[in-house]
Amino acid sequence: MQKQQQWDTTWLLFARMMADRHSKCASKSVACVIVKDEKPISIGINGTPSQHVNCNEIYLKQAGVLYKASIDEVKDTESVLHNGRMFYRCTNQEEHHEWSKLNEIHAEINALGKLAADSTSARHATAYVTHSPCHACSLALIASKIDRVVYSTGYEYGDGLTLMRQSGIEVIHRPLTEEYFLERIFDKDL
Ligand SMILES: [Zn+2]
Ligand SMILES: [Zn+2]
Repeated sequence: MQKQQQWDTTWLLFARMMADRHSKCASKSVACVIVKDEKPISIGINGTPSQHVNCNEIYLKQAGVLYKASIDEVKDTESVLHNGRMFYRCTNQEEHHEWSKLNEIHAEINALGKLAADSTSARHATAYVTHSPCHACSLALIASKIDRVVYSTGYEYGDGLTLMRQSGIEVIHRPLTEEYFLERIFDKDL
């Protein structure tokens, strides 16, 4: 059991790192790592399909405030210069959420989609996700016959956890605590 917990934390940290370093969503960095027989078989990150414009080329989120890129000056609006682009504060702070629903693929769907493209089964695998899966992703995880779902952070939109548990999936919330990182730093002979 302790070994399982240690591996769970390892894969969650891996997912966390993939999300933080590679997600191009301006609002949330999510990753899903699917592990089967102790091997990672797929990695999904939230974002637009390849060839499409990335979320962070349109939107910027700073200190919880949403901004949108514009070539033309938007008068009397708070602006931020970021990576050589001008971003202006969105009047509708929910704008990204609406845009994201239409344009961004969730990490779990990206991970399952990659497996489908290779005709590889996720049956009996574990999905490690940085955030608790939303309703639609939970349905996809159920359909893929995954055995376990381990996540580290709660997610505010939708909750498919009950749905997954009702379908016999073992759902585990394992927060990545700050103590864990500090412990690691002080453990090491740097
Ligand atoms: Zn986004
Ligand atoms: Zn989702």
